[in-house]
Amino acid sequence: MSAFIFNELNFDDHEQVVFVSEAKSGLKGIIAVHNTNLGPAMGGCRMWNYASEALAVNDVLRLSRGMTYKNAVAGLPIGGGKSVIIGNPKTDKTPALFEALGEALERLGGRYITAEDIGTSPEDMAHVATKTRYVAGLGASGDPSPYTALGCFVGAQAAVKHHLKRDTMDGLTVAVQGLGHVGYDYARRLHGAGAKLIVTDIDQATLERAREEFGAEIVSVDAIYDVQADIYAPCALGATLNPGTLARLKAKIVAGGANNQLATAEVGELLRQKGVLYAPDFVINAGGIIKVCYEYLNKPEADVEAHVREISDTLAEVFARADQEGQPTSVVADEIAEARFKR
Ligand code: NAD
Repeated sequence: MSAFIFNELNFDDHEQVVFVSEAKSGLKGIIAVHNTNLGPAMGGCRMWNYASEALAVNDVLRLSRGMTYKNAVAGLPIGGGKSVIIGNPKTDKTPALFEALGEALERLGGRYITAEDIGTSPEDMAHVATKTRYVAGLGASGDPSPYTALGCFVGAQAAVKHHLKRDTMDGLTVAVQGLGHVGYDYARRLHGAGAKLIVTDIDQATLERAREEFGAEIVSVDAIYDVQADIYAPCALGATLNPGTLARLKAKIVAGGANNQLATAEVGELLRQKGVLYAPDFVINAGGIIKVCYEYLNKPEADVEAHVREISDTLAEVFARADQEGQPTSVVADEIAEARFKR
């Protein structure tokens, strides 16, 4: 067993990995605390019908590590962690399942704070909260997505300033992939700043809404990689940047809210060689975790926006250093995070 864990591709000196199982509720979950040097580990709880336990382990190790980097770069006083529940979020959810998770978090004594993620909701977190206070994002003051969208917008502005030497979005074309919680709000801000939008989604009603509200041009899901645009904004799926899509992309900037945009780490270097400025995903999409963290720490909501707007300065630093050092922006962002949390 230990050989399996320690040889995992994504095992990276995680401080603690806890396997939780409770027969009564059917809970089978894994909690990974990656690093707590900057504060207690925070990151969402994902519920997914993993095809195997090994895949669940792999996911929680990878995601918890990612949270350490995201939280550190965002300048938050928290570390990185994540949890996964193995099960079908459509059919296997019960209050007892999330109460059992809450009890497991309580046993960890605050080393890990959970929140909603893919497959879980604020309602599920309310059940967790009946057993522990180590849970955030209960929905008391709403959805964090608008803050994620704001971070994407100020991040895109920083990229445009650095790469296109322009102070405005006016007249630029942005290809937005996915008009969900983050993508739609981001599109609204881009439209407000005078950008022309080319959009895609699998939901036809959302596309029609964007056409009416923003005058957006609609393209099919696959055609988004071929359009003539200045900025490509991935706001749906991960791993959309790969050698295949890179050969098709015409945009000079990638600035979007999706997680894990690079299919592999090497794609960061391929983007650099192609002259595309990539705003690293975990830097530009940190608005949501900033909001959730403020809520958990009882810090004033009025200060969240200013903190999210700092994403622009962080990205400006990433871009300048990447130029100076001839490195991919993704590598520089990792280094900035590591300088903060590795002590
Ligand atoms: P969401 O589910 O609300 O939106 C996703 C949208 O993408 C939906 O409209 C969906 O129809 C669309 N979509 C699905 N498959 C598609 C495809 N093949 N092509 C085009 N569109 C497709 O999710 P969200 O909360 O907006 O999050 C979007 C991305 O941002 C995810 O990768 C998420 O992990 C990441 N993210 C979100 C937040 C947040 O605050 N919500 C924070 C950080 C990162």
